[in-house]
Amino acid sequence: MKDNKKPHFLNFSPLLAENYMITNGQKKFRTKQLLDWVYKKRINSFDDCSDLSAEFREKLKNDFTLYTFEIKDKKVSALDGSIRYYFSTAHGDEVITVFMPNPERNTICLSSQVGCPVKCTFCASGSVDFKRNLTRGEILEQLLQVERDTKLSTDSVLFMGMGEPLMNYENVVNAVHSLTSPEQFAYGRRKIVISTAGLVPQIEKLSQENISVKLALSLHGADDETRRKIVPSIIPYKVEDILQAGLNYGRQTKSSVTIEYVLIEGINDDLQQAEKLADLIQEYLYRTDRLKINIIPHNPTGVDRFKRPSDEKIQSFKDCFMRRDLTAIIRESKGTDIGAACGQLTI
Ligand code: SAH
Repeated sequence: MKDNKKPHFLNFSPLLAENYMITNGQKKFRTKQLLDWVYKKRINSFDDCSDLSAEFREKLKNDFTLYTFEIKDKKVSALDGSIRYYFSTAHGDEVITVFMPNPERNTICLSSQVGCPVKCTFCASGSVDFKRNLTRGEILEQLLQVERDTKLSTDSVLFMGMGEPLMNYENVVNAVHSLTSPEQFAYGRRKIVISTAGLVPQIEKLSQENISVKLALSLHGADDETRRKIVPSIIPYKVEDILQAGLNYGRQTKSSVTIEYVLIEGINDDLQQAEKLADLIQEYLYRTDRLKINIIPHNPTGVDRFKRPSDEKIQSFKDCFMRRDLTAIIRESKGTDIGAACGQLTI
């Protein structure tokens, strides 16, 4: 287990890093140098910060840990090359991250919590007791560790791993600030997606942050009765209100919104659900909104009563939206053979 007594450097926002530098007699411009070493040049140790004095490098080493994770396990999918990482944190908690390499675009799926408090019945992450929120540093360290290990760079970042990102609001928003900051990870805001089970007040709050990343709404039903069969009431909001909050978010941030719909046989795959959802969307959609529906056929989690519908059914469900000129795609998950697909992340 790693040293967990010293603060994790990645938990320090640039402002805190600057305060630290000034408190320790360093000139303000040195902060940029330090951030460059950590976030751009990806040093292994503060020893590598060659433009900082030897004495100060020693101080950094004494005051901070740079990396806190160990790779406990790593599985590579024989089907599509996606990689599931199990990290162990400085406190001995387990964090799962999935990397999906692709010649066109490498994607990472980050976890935001250890366990998930929401416990959607069709999702394996719900079977893990919720333990805690991940810190800013632990969220960002997932990306740094994966890139160090694969020697590949990540093009897009999804907050779609274990946990409900908007229940760890502050740390997720701080991590996103770091991801989009030109001095740190420098991602374009459209390269980042936050997925939520539907926390309306947090969606509204998020639209006021200066980050404007893409938003995905895990809706899974066209009406409250259907949704409530599979999404517990810890998310107490109505389908209609979640959809409206999502569309408002899209308008305020000028970004596109995705509806995620896990399609489960006999639970929410009735074509009437598709028609009803299309009705609802069309009721609220403005001509200028950008919205798409991702139909995710259910991935096995070991619970027998949840099954993937037939391919024919999945196609017909999608066609209901397409007939109405709404964009719908069938999203086949990656890494189903290694337990890395949507809904399969468990520890
Ligand atoms: N808690 C957030 C982030 C998780 S994203 C959210 O709910 O949006 C993970 C996505 O995978 C969600 O849309 C989730 O509903 C979906 N998912 C969960 N279990 C699944 C399963 N067994 N098969 C397919 N998708 C699943």
